[in-house]
Amino acid sequence: MGGTSAASGAAGEGFGEAEVAELCRDLIRIDTSNYGDGSGPGERAAAEFVAEKLAEFGLEPQIIESERGRASTIARIAGEDPSRPALLIHGHTDVVPANADDWTHHPFAGEIADGMVWGRGAVDMKDMDAMTLAVVRDRLRSGRKPPRDIVLAFLADEEAGGVYGAHHLVDKHPGLFEGVNEAIGEVGGFSFTVNENLRLYLVETAEKGMHWMRLTVDGTAGHGSMTNKDNAITELCEAVARLGRHKFPVRITKSVRHFLDELSDALGVELDPEDMDTTLERLGGIAKLIGATLRNTAQPTMLGAGYKVNVIPGQATAHVDGRFLPGYEEEFLTELDAVLGPRVRREAVHHDKAVETDFDGPLVAAMQSALVAEDPIARAVPYTLSGGTDAKSFSELGIRCFGFAPLRLPPELDFAGMFHGVDERVPVDSLKFGVRVLDRFIDQS
Ligand SMILES: [Zn+2]
Repeated sequence: MGGTSAASGAAGEGFGEAEVAELCRDLIRIDTSNYGDGSGPGERAAAEFVAEKLAEFGLEPQIIESERGRASTIARIAGEDPSRPALLIHGHTDVVPANADDWTHHPFAGEIADGMVWGRGAVDMKDMDAMTLAVVRDRLRSGRKPPRDIVLAFLADEEAGGVYGAHHLVDKHPGLFEGVNEAIGEVGGFSFTVNENLRLYLVETAEKGMHWMRLTVDGTAGHGSMTNKDNAITELCEAVARLGRHKFPVRITKSVRHFLDELSDALGVELDPEDMDTTLERLGGIAKLIGATLRNTAQPTMLGAGYKVNVIPGQATAHVDGRFLPGYEEEFLTELDAVLGPRVRREAVHHDKAVETDFDGPLVAAMQSALVAEDPIARAVPYTLSGGTDAKSFSELGIRCFGFAPLRLPPELDFAGMFHGVDERVPVDSLKFGVRVLDRFIDQS
């Protein structure tokens, strides 16, 4: 475990900046892999680590377990004006598993090399957990109260849908979030450098919803040597292939419109949403993030049928990962069924809603001004995430959720590609930048 090493920081550096990389490293060293079956070893240890770091400067965090070992840490910091609504800052402590053989540095060693902190969770999202801890500890230590109450939540189980983390807390302990009206968390706040005069910071204001489903076709079972006009595998595969090749129409939501307008402006070109392929090419790594937010998608991901080569099975199944834009769930399902045809039976296996909030108001202004104070060419722009986060849970309490984990990144770093990827790493300077921005942001929140 790392001590607080303010002394090791560069001259003029704040306490939070000096310790943020170490906090990130220490969190990465706690293996919190979430396999989706409850077997992950580390969430309890991470919750205790976080609680200890907060208690060191006078907070009284609570550790809440939904099931044995599935622990989240919650704390409330009193603000100057208790009559104002509170701000939630949330981060998850679990990570997706990693296969050490594929990595340059061991994914759970938390190496600091070449100016980067390496390891599983370095960008998703122990970076933000460490930045939050560093800022809060610095403020507690120097007695700088936030303008309003802040609720901190370090959560289990985000990587498997948050059932044992955020969903549990929202369902069973909503009182913890009493008075909270706005929240920041992942996945946003990172930079995309357009040119030497402009750096966009993508703030997440919307998320696609998810509809994971199982498809089944029943056919006529029989001997593989005989004629069979009702083969379940053939029928299912045709439907799945149609779906896999199907392109859902472009649908421009409010948040995507806003992003495209900003991008048009920044690139100085008119963007045609119907012809985004050319535009996406100019976006480098973040094209991965943006491309899937222009339309609903349905990707076949699993197939199952049969048990012997000379037996035609009576049934075949497939799984599909479906994602819909805010406001387009009904259209998605109608179109999906039309593509699949009448032979396919569809059941939902997991569903979570789409969320969207406006990119306006004092909190957004606070993000913009905190960014500009640290990076004069910064401009905050809203974008839609094609995946999902714990924001889905918190929005159920009427909380406006933003993805804002500020990082100024070197343009050549493929940041989007590192989420759940190999050699996940974050520059130490980016973490320090995030600490300074978050500190300013809290002052103005
Ligand atoms: Zn994440």
